[in-house]
Amino acid sequence: MLKEHALQVLQTLEKHGFEAYYVGGCVRDWLLGRPVHDIDICTNAHPGDVMRLFPEHVPTGLQHGTVSVKIGSFLFEVTTFRTEGEYEDFRRPSNVQFVSDLVTDLERRDFTINAMAMDSRDQLADPFHGQEDLNNRLIRAVGVPAKRFREDALRLLRAARFAAQLHFDIESDTLQAMTVTATLLDRIAVERVRDELNKLIDSATPERGCDIVVDTRLLGCFPLLDRLFETARPHVWRLVHLGTLSQKWALLCYAAAFSKEQARAVCQLLRMSKRETEEISRFVELMAELSPQWDHPHPIDWSRNLLHYGWSVCMEVDNLLQACWWKNRDRQSSVSLIAVYEAMPVKTVKELAVNGKDLQIALQKKAGEWIQHVLMYLLEQTALHQLPNTPEALVEAARKEVVRYEHQARNT
Ligand code: ATP
Ligand code: MG
Repeated sequence: MLKEHALQVLQTLEKHGFEAYYVGGCVRDWLLGRPVHDIDICTNAHPGDVMRLFPEHVPTGLQHGTVSVKIGSFLFEVTTFRTEGEYEDFRRPSNVQFVSDLVTDLERRDFTINAMAMDSRDQLADPFHGQEDLNNRLIRAVGVPAKRFREDALRLLRAARFAAQLHFDIESDTLQAMTVTATLLDRIAVERVRDELNKLIDSATPERGCDIVVDTRLLGCFPLLDRLFETARPHVWRLVHLGTLSQKWALLCYAAAFSKEQARAVCQLLRMSKRETEEISRFVELMAELSPQWDHPHPIDWSRNLLHYGWSVCMEVDNLLQACWWKNRDRQSSVSLIAVYEAMPVKTVKELAVNGKDLQIALQKKAGEWIQHVLMYLLEQTALHQLPNTPEALVEAARKEVVRYEHQARNT
């Protein structure tokens, strides 16, 4: 379906006398039998020609020669054959030049497996023997590896990430060059580092990516990340048993014995969102409290955590526990989580028969920190200790707890 739509782009360009090919990741993934979600196209037509031939287009990257063409509900990036001038700041070429032949375009691409093109009759153009490397499951730089990593240091992490996603090895000269040029990674925007690390830890074989990162000291210029991956290494295989990136980062931090503060520092270093930072540091904090031993399940008392953090956080923490116990997982903690949750007559503060305002009025007190504390106390008492969920019983219990809370506050 996707490919049939892309074929229309190729055929339209050919009909008007241009060359056009599928290129890069889609060709690699077709040959590997992996699912393809987007198709890139390269052509000798200039962006002006592409825009003229396809009225439905978005000029997404004209400075690189890229026009996005809309066919049906799909968008395809169509990029004019180009070569890149001298590189500035180890990432961006100072200029790009359009060229007339396909091989020059393929030559600028990072790895041989990403430097193949296919025409409208499915004929492969493979001047750098990418297919042979695919068969041998190898990531190999196009051209002189160290030169290619110096041009664009992001390729260092891309190599490790593709190895993790495809379960490939890195060809020895390419690997050697990675060790030599690893320090250049400090010139790369951390957001790009984060995006590649996310793909690496979210891959089918993150342990392979981690081995490469550690063996080449790829993260040497980020000491905290370097330590994280090095220390967590024996447990990185567990990441595939987790559902979300936040869980994966949290497991790495737990495996590296990072504190909540160190986990937060990792998130901040990688400029993660506030939501992700909170989520990851909360998981790390809860894991530190539960302190599961690797592959030795133990009973969990969920009641307080359920009340404090709610059902969905506890479910995710249970996923983390299962990954920690993977080799001997018995699902007992999941069973007890469900049982405790179902047995609780009241599950959240919202379900209490009084709210903060009611307590203020009943106890004649100004708003303050005491409200949050007392509501949590009432929740615990009703959920776990049979306090009736009626306004009278709750106000009465609140009155006593406020006295105790304020007395304690005065004495500390
Ligand atoms: P993915 O499945 O992650 O999308 P991909 O190979 O399609 O993999 P993209 O980042 O989408 O990767 O890039 C598309 C193509 O552009 C690559 O296959 C490669 O040919 C080329 N490319 C991308 N980034 C670089 C780079 N940093 N250096 C050289 N070539 C690159
Ligand atoms: Mg892609």
